[in-house]
Amino acid sequence: MTMPTKAQIFEHWMDWLDKRGLDWGEPCCWACKRHFDVKYDLNKPTAKRVDIISNWDSVPLQRCHIIARQFGGENVPDNLFLMCKSCHDRAPNTKSRESFLDWVEKQDYTSLVQEDIMRELRNFELFDRIVDVGEMLADKELMKRFFSNSGFHMNQARGGSEITLSSIFVQIAEELKRRK
Ligand SMILES: [Zn+2]
Repeated sequence: MTMPTKAQIFEHWMDWLDKRGLDWGEPCCWACKRHFDVKYDLNKPTAKRVDIISNWDSVPLQRCHIIARQFGGENVPDNLFLMCKSCHDRAPNTKSRESFLDWVEKQDYTSLVQEDIMRELRNFELFDRIVDVGEMLADKELMKRFFSNSGFHMNQARGGSEITLSSIFVQIAEELKRRK
């Protein structure tokens, strides 16, 4: 069977998403609920159902198998789930639909970002500078500069093109050295 489109997968899961409080017009990852660039939003009252559904085809989410292919999982909407790249990379390979959906319930974008930041603090040995790092992360102008130094605009990075957090932390570490 050929792989269904993201719109077909979305259409199959609409009721389930609605029950979880996910907005059909504001595409996000179905696991961590991370939102994408505002350009994918279709929240205008005049949007037709067909537009809202087809909008999901353009969103940078990946089609992931619930029951893995090597365990006989099929390419049908009921066995497919839309997730961001980072959730897809961490998703369990399982024979159990129930276990997969239990894992989904535990995902949370804010705590994922926190874990990533903790890892980089460790990598760059910046735990004793945690207050300075926090201030720098909250400095929008500085972050804008760091993002564009890494070859991205901030909203592009949010839109799904992955920028590694370490690209930002390299610059934070350099900036702290300069300020010292
Ligand atoms: Zn995600």
